[in-house]
Amino acid sequence: MNNVLIAGTIATDTIETPFGKVDRALGGSATYAAYAASFYTEPSIISIVGEDFSTDFWKTLEDRNINLEGVKKEGKTFHWEGSYEFDMNEAKTLKTELNSLATFKPELPEAYKKAEYLFLANLDPEIQLSIVNQLEKPKLVITDTMNFWIESNKEHVLEVIKKTNIMLLNDGEARQLFDTTSLVKAAKQTLALGPQAVIIKKGEHGALLFTKSHHFNAPGYPLEEIKDPTGCGDTFGGTLIGYLAKTNDHSQENLRKAIMYASTLASFNAEDFSLNKLKSITEKDIEKRYQEFIEIRNF
Ligand code: AMP
Repeated sequence: MNNVLIAGTIATDTIETPFGKVDRALGGSATYAAYAASFYTEPSIISIVGEDFSTDFWKTLEDRNINLEGVKKEGKTFHWEGSYEFDMNEAKTLKTELNSLATFKPELPEAYKKAEYLFLANLDPEIQLSIVNQLEKPKLVITDTMNFWIESNKEHVLEVIKKTNIMLLNDGEARQLFDTTSLVKAAKQTLALGPQAVIIKKGEHGALLFTKSHHFNAPGYPLEEIKDPTGCGDTFGGTLIGYLAKTNDHSQENLRKAIMYASTLASFNAEDFSLNKLKSITEKDIEKRYQEFIEIRNF
């Protein structure tokens, strides 16, 4: 059943951090999100890759029971180059080659249109809008974006937020989007556009959840070694949609649990480049770290 749909990029990434470098590794917002969601459900991806996309990368996703029927093959694969300095919370984009994404007009396969759970991972906001508009009856739409799209197409980013139930922003994006230094003001302005919740991610320092009536402050995991934070936001969003779809419980209490699982998987992802760490962890590892999170908060 195609109940969880993930829209985003499938990319090759060239990344340099103070702890190493990878060249044209598997990346992209949909890749990380679907991989994380596959711990809880069997997600489908809507995206595009180029003719140059490696069969090994394709297999990495298929082996996790990720449905790729909606992934078109055309032209050249989206390519991103980024670097991080000692403050690993913010990536510096060195190059964004949209390639086949530039002309991508998504058409959902019939089976995808019935999906109840949609994660609009970081992607061109006009493509995000076209995808949400093709769904018959979505029950929960979670959306993410990035400074690149806020700078180039803020108007459409705001339009997507109006169609969203849970909006994800990192702290820098929240300030940039609403031109304010206050995260509380940015959260309020996001909620005023329609979402029931907004989650402001603060990298290794955790995440803040705001709804009209509640506020929750999720701690960060004290990771000793962060090798590469690329994909942590996407891993966070993918876990969130996967967990909420699996449990089919959108209550405030369950949303908090979902955030803690999302933080757990995102913290694992930062421990190695590309999908290397996510590939190596088991459900037992996830549960152990989730329990540690509960301990951290206990006083
Ligand atoms: P994150 O670190 O979670 O914000 O996402 C990192 C992933 O986003 C990388 O694997 C990139 O390939 C992908 N990415 C970078 N720039 C963009 C963009 N402008 N739109 C969509 N995806 C992007």
